[in-house]
Amino acid sequence: MSPPQEFDVVVVGAGTAGANAALQLARQGRRVALLDVRPFSAAGARWVNGVPLWQYERAGLELPTSPETRGPARPVLLTPDGKRRLTLGELPVAKADMRHLVARLHRLAAEAGVEAFERTRLREVVLEGERPVAIRATRHSSGRSGGQEETLELRAKLFVDGSGLGAALRSQVPALASDTPTPGPEDLCVARQEVREIELEGARAYLEEHGIGNDQSLTFLGVAGGFSTLLVNVDLEAGEVELLGGSLVADPTPCGKGVIEGFRAQHPWVGARKFGGQGKIPIRRPYDRFAAEGIALVGNAACQVFPAHGSGIGAGMMGARILAEAVEGREDPGSQEALWAYQARLMRELGGLLTAFDVFRRMSQELSNEQIGRMIDTGLMTPHGATAGLLQHMPQPGVMESLRMLRGALQAPRLASSMIPSVARMQRVKRAYARYPERPSREELRRWAQRAAKAHGGRADLQ
Ligand SMILES: Cc1cc2nc3c(=O)[nH]c(=O)nc-3n(C[C@H](O)[C@H](O)[C@H](O)COP(=O)(O)OP(=O)(O)OC[C@H]3O[C@@H](n4cnc5c(N)ncnc54)[C@H](O)[C@@H]3O)c2cc1C
Repeated sequence: MSPPQEFDVVVVGAGTAGANAALQLARQGRRVALLDVRPFSAAGARWVNGVPLWQYERAGLELPTSPETRGPARPVLLTPDGKRRLTLGELPVAKADMRHLVARLHRLAAEAGVEAFERTRLREVVLEGERPVAIRATRHSSGRSGGQEETLELRAKLFVDGSGLGAALRSQVPALASDTPTPGPEDLCVARQEVREIELEGARAYLEEHGIGNDQSLTFLGVAGGFSTLLVNVDLEAGEVELLGGSLVADPTPCGKGVIEGFRAQHPWVGARKFGGQGKIPIRRPYDRFAAEGIALVGNAACQVFPAHGSGIGAGMMGARILAEAVEGREDPGSQEALWAYQARLMRELGGLLTAFDVFRRMSQELSNEQIGRMIDTGLMTPHGATAGLLQHMPQPGVMESLRMLRGALQAPRLASSMIPSVARMQRVKRAYARYPERPSREELRRWAQRAAKAHGGRADLQ
């Protein structure tokens, strides 16, 4: 084993959340190591994701430019038969090519002095009492199986778990592992996104058939029932189509890949794959607790995801920035006080929003396609509400909007009455999360978690 190396912070996982944590902490002058089991050129998401522009700013990043962004989003939401639809204008949401965003974060991190450990797998966590003080990892000198393997020991005051859903670090720290249950199939989405070549005539005919312009995206809600979605975005100028399919792991519906393959089988104008990928996304609310002395979780490892559509890029990058803000100027960035401040800031600022949309997600995945159609027809689903969901904001309907919804409720009283309890819950959740305990106390947090569970209707993580 090589001699131990000392850092202030070691970040495990060089996807968007981990890489931004490394960058933001290094910008404070801290000595930071960033490691990933993959080569950095293959780390994190490798497909196209929708990311609201405000989230880059909150995450401490400049707005993306081409080719990182493939242009703004112009969504049309519709029922699977295409008959009922909600057409939204151009939204301040980047269609982000994640390969470029991840590369930007790695480049900025290197410029800020972050030491990179590629092809390095976390193996073991060394604890002193309950606090992690070192990790052991193995580094491969090449991607090929015959390459050399080296064992490293990296010591630090703070370890950040940005290793995604697998949570390689979290699961080895008993102080946190028991409070952070692995999401079950009812709280996991499996999604696939691909960019493919197109045959122009067929693609043009498809746009005409649906009455939309070039580069407007069609999002079919509940395409295979429940939480499932299919997004189709044709760009005739680029000669490409973006396809996204997703569904709940627990649902007996086709998975993300199945949704896309079903579409391709019916649309021979969709050609060869250019790039893309797939994976599972946690779509439950953030953990009630995602830090303990010496360790903080960011991104998917902390379930920092917007549950209504499984969007974790912005939430994870903002989590990373909030972590850096909370520990700034502290001699020990891994102290209990510093990391409690991280939890409290994030939960007070974003926890209520993410959890409110988990309530919404659980309600909406029970709706039938007929009910979704009714919501569009009657005005219960409004452009304002849908836009807020896509921008990842709490909706704040004005007078006209509220009147439209009221009219919708009068036209579809049974449907409205099944939605009203969830809407009321979303407001209660916002209030509960604004009261996340600010001072370190497990007992106080346990009491808060029980109260919050009454508001969101789920089970508290802390028993
Ligand atoms: C098909 C698809 C479409 C999506 N669409 C959107 C979207 O439109 N908008 C949006 O915001 N989100 C979207 N998401 C979700 C989003 O991609 C994830 O929430 C996000 O990538 C999570 O980032 P992360 O940095 O937390 O984890 P990851 O991106 O999973 O990165 C974790 C990193 O940790 C590394 N790692 C794992 N284990 C170890 C170990 N033992 N040692 C060292 N390194 C390790 C991995 O190699 C990886 O590079 C989508 C997801 C999928 C699958």
